[in-house]
Amino acid sequence: MPFSLPTLPYASDALAPLMSKETIDYHYGRHLQTYIDKVNALVAGTEFEELPLDEVVRRSEGGLYNNAAQAWNHIFFFDSLTPQSKPVGTGLHALILRDFGSVEAFREQLCQRVLTHFASGWVWLIMDCDGKLAIVSTQDAQSMLADGVTPLLTIDLWEHAYYIDHRNRRADYFEAVWQLIDWEKVENRLNLNLFDGL
Ligand code: MN
Repeated sequence: MPFSLPTLPYASDALAPLMSKETIDYHYGRHLQTYIDKVNALVAGTEFEELPLDEVVRRSEGGLYNNAAQAWNHIFFFDSLTPQSKPVGTGLHALILRDFGSVEAFREQLCQRVLTHFASGWVWLIMDCDGKLAIVSTQDAQSMLADGVTPLLTIDLWEHAYYIDHRNRRADYFEAVWQLIDWEKVENRLNLNLFDGL
């Protein structure tokens, strides 16, 4: 089965004005579609053809890795947003307090990583191998799908993610994304990880 563009969990204009319909149409509808099309072209007739996307990311390298990781990262990013963002839930809140001191301190560290990351890439909140929350950034397409690491949240740092709505102002983009994060989904990813570890 070729990979196809998943349905967004919200309408294409639902995140406006924080993220415009034009950005969703280009970023989700065109950039992500292009990565998916390239993955389909590259896996056709190979051992990767029947694998789920995360397995393609884990097992591939080179051009296939770049396109598969970009596809996976984008799906994960857009699935982490909601027009009805609520405060961080109690389980995740406790871990943020333990590992960052406060939600505000966590937000500041995340923001600093977004602002200081050079060129294209992704910033992540992960649970690391030791069960600690950590903020990391990756270059270009690189994903955080790795053994023992649970990606909880990612933010796209490629210019195409923010140039339509914010031009070169990455800080404004971060402020907008922060208001759109679906913390319930982020926390559910944590629960899945804990369940897997039992
Ligand atoms: Mn992107």
